[in-house]
Amino acid sequence: MRSIKWKLIIMYLGLVLLVMIVSGTYILLSLRNIEIDKSREQLEIYAERIYEQVIDGGKEENFQETLQKTVTNVMGIQGNILNAKGETIASTTALRPPYPTYTDQAIISGMNGTPSFSIGKKSTDSFGLLKEWMGYAVPIRGEEDNAIRYIIYTRLDAGNMQTSLNETTKTIVIAVAIALFLAAIMSYIFAQTLTGPILALTKGAKNMAEGNWKQSLKVRSRDEIGQLTSSFNDMAEELQKNMQEISKEKNRLEIILHNMSDGVISFANDGEMMLANTAAEDMLQPEKGQLNMTFSQFIHTFDINSGVYLDIEDEASKKVTFPVGKQFINATFSPYYNTKKDIEGVVVVLQDVTEQKKLDDMRKEFVANVSHELRTPLTTVKSYTETLMDGAVEDKEIAMEFLSIVDSEADRMAFLVRDLLQLSRFDNKQVRLNIVEIEMNEFLQTTVKQNKIHADAKKQELIFTPNPKPVIIYGDRDRVTQVVHNIISNAIKYSLEQARIHIYITEDNNYYKISVKDTGMGITRKDLPRIFERFYRVDKARSRAMGGTGLGLAIAKEIMEGHGGRLTAESEYGKGTTMTMWFPKERPVLEYEQDEESML
Ligand code: ADP
Repeated sequence: MRSIKWKLIIMYLGLVLLVMIVSGTYILLSLRNIEIDKSREQLEIYAERIYEQVIDGGKEENFQETLQKTVTNVMGIQGNILNAKGETIASTTALRPPYPTYTDQAIISGMNGTPSFSIGKKSTDSFGLLKEWMGYAVPIRGEEDNAIRYIIYTRLDAGNMQTSLNETTKTIVIAVAIALFLAAIMSYIFAQTLTGPILALTKGAKNMAEGNWKQSLKVRSRDEIGQLTSSFNDMAEELQKNMQEISKEKNRLEIILHNMSDGVISFANDGEMMLANTAAEDMLQPEKGQLNMTFSQFIHTFDINSGVYLDIEDEASKKVTFPVGKQFINATFSPYYNTKKDIEGVVVVLQDVTEQKKLDDMRKEFVANVSHELRTPLTTVKSYTETLMDGAVEDKEIAMEFLSIVDSEADRMAFLVRDLLQLSRFDNKQVRLNIVEIEMNEFLQTTVKQNKIHADAKKQELIFTPNPKPVIIYGDRDRVTQVVHNIISNAIKYSLEQARIHIYITEDNNYYKISVKDTGMGITRKDLPRIFERFYRVDKARSRAMGGTGLGLAIAKEIMEGHGGRLTAESEYGKGTTMTMWFPKERPVLEYEQDEESML
């Protein structure tokens, strides 16, 4: 019963009931007064008649007879004549004495000289029934002495009036009931028209709260509720517009966030993960699907143990690098604040620094390698010169021997520096290639001839099988010579005596492939992918003894790539190695190519 509708109906009915009761009571009271006045008037007229027709000019002994004859009971009114003592001496209700005795208040007033009227007096009628009466008593005085002689007492049954009043009351009650019934119907309709739009508004607001923004309520009237409805519609439209704007903005941000190469994770201050973009998910768990963990799980899982991340009280962000599988991730923890400057959470930006770290490590390793490579010949030079200075210089033979060692060590250092410079030029993209057409059958024939002497020294067989048709490649003659020399000399170096070194040319759709196949010591599966690294040597002592710097293949690889080709190696440990140089058949567009002007 909490709805406005029922409250309105009840108030309405209450109001109608109140109005009906008040007006009904007023009507009933007025009617009663009118009835009483009417009855009093009748009683007075009756008393007047008794006086005129019985007492005036009549004799007391004839009163009863005259009264019975002339006046009798009219309209239920009883007439009586009482003497000054209040005893009934004539009455319309009895034919002969004894007459009824009356004890009405009006009679006492009449005996005291005042005409009087009384209502509600209860006494029996001529048949002995107890009834309620209205009575009127008027004193009649003697003409000479003005003393009270008689009292005319008339009375009327009040029950008749009561009956008619009861009828009226019944009518009023029926009217009230009909009015209430009609009022109930009307108030229902009224409440319905009033609460209908309110209910529609409530439903609309509820729908809106559930996210259904696209709605417009019908404006049915121009009153306050109508205005409220149209304001509601305006508000819904405005909200819808704002929501669209916000979701567009959110989409835009989400697109940016999910297409960033940096990973972004945000945690709420209770540690719950609020957001993780695609990059973060890829970085942290490439094999699993969604990334969902609390801040402490995150710290624990990735073993970020530096401790700085927890101390995010100050505004500065903290950086930490941690490994995930083979990757290295750099995480920047930055707290974010609400308007009251309380910490709301932490944003973690992740960057994959694997490549950077690899380069860093390589640079460090390179510097260490260079220092190491230089230190050995330097130590040798230093110790021999010291020995010479200590007196060995006196002995010419020893001095010459020592000086030749110093000379060869100096050569080693010079080779090393030359190779390093060459690599550095590649690294800094300072190399310029003078690309020309080279016919490889002829070119290789010459190169093989130049290396024959070294192969012969080791009793090795060095054979070149030319291609039946001309093989034209595009290359810088000096650089290509350097690569081919390096590879043939490696084959000679890393093969024992009697070995067979075979050089041949094959081709596929895009490349001419020049292979140098030896029956040497071969390279283990583990070492094979690393032989192109700078300073990598399978057997350091042997390489050094043969004057190798460990940079030859690294440079050869750079040169081949500079020509748009590649250098590959296949090997079986203990059986032999095949190194293959791939030259593109088409003239490649090269990064390092010397332009026409600089050639001039
Ligand atoms: P180095 O100056 O030591 O020869 P390279 O860069 O030319 O350096 O070669 C790197 C390493 O690769 C060598 O030290 C050697 O161990 C291995 N290697 C190269 N060519 C061959 C080959 N034909 N047979 C076996 N091992 C080889």
